[in-house]
Amino acid sequence: MMNVLEETKFIMKKNGIKANKSLGQNFLINEEVLSTIVNSSKISKDDVVIEIGPGLGTLTKFLLEEAGKVICIELDKKMIDILNERFSLYNNIEVINDDVLKVDLKALISREKENFKNVKVVANLPYYITTPIIMKLLEEKLDIESITVMIQKEVADRLIAIPGEKLSGAITYTVYYYCESEKIMEVQNSSFIPEPEVTSEVIRLNVRNNPVITTDNPEKMFKVIKCAFMQRRKTLLNSLVNSRIFESKKEGERILKELNIDLNARAENLSIEDFANISNKISL
Ligand code: SAM
Repeated sequence: MMNVLEETKFIMKKNGIKANKSLGQNFLINEEVLSTIVNSSKISKDDVVIEIGPGLGTLTKFLLEEAGKVICIELDKKMIDILNERFSLYNNIEVINDDVLKVDLKALISREKENFKNVKVVANLPYYITTPIIMKLLEEKLDIESITVMIQKEVADRLIAIPGEKLSGAITYTVYYYCESEKIMEVQNSSFIPEPEVTSEVIRLNVRNNPVITTDNPEKMFKVIKCAFMQRRKTLLNSLVNSRIFESKKEGERILKELNIDLNARAENLSIEDFANISNKISL
């Protein structure tokens, strides 16, 4: 029997595949990493798994054994042909040839929820669109239980930081608002062909039943957060004045003082509650 590396090389050669860098194609060849992804995503036959970017189907093969159904969303037509041939004998796979950012996931999930208990996302993501994919999965308020993904380590560290930590960025607050997050493992570049130029990490986001705080208008809060981080080297006060969240410096100083927020604070020093409180004090 071929190991994962031999199988990957065989499929690539047979189908004349060269990894397409512009589509973020780095194929996983490390069996231990594959098992860890599958085990940490805690899949059962009650679950539908949405796999984004299945590529040659290496992770898919593991997922098909554990899940009730696997829905693969892949942009590259060449991969679609390989997946259809490779898994022709499986009756629990659906392959969609589309850009994941354009797929109506809400409709897809509500259809699947008629037959399955949980929907989980598991993927070795195309790194060039990690942030838009994570934002789509969270902001569309999809009925999903968890997201287990391999992404670039630098991005992973930002996603799973606790708001207020130095690494925090606007996306940290979005992830924290919707999910509890955990780091699963760091992955060496040699676990892929071709090797990516960056280190990778597997993380798991468990979607909360209710957001971590209650706020009247989350959209308004996230707008304030985005504006605060647009000029992260400046003080929060200056960033929010420049982006016209505060009408004037005077108004900004008054609001921050009322909320006991240091006038010299920077965006990453604030908790999510601080941002919710600021957004409750302004009209946009
Ligand atoms: N899952 C495979 C593995 O682990 O070996 C391949 C992962 S590779 C990092 C990312 C995959 O995402 C590629 O197969 C690529 O073609 C696909 N992809 C890139 N952009 C995409 C998009 N917008 N929508 C869906 N899939 C995409």
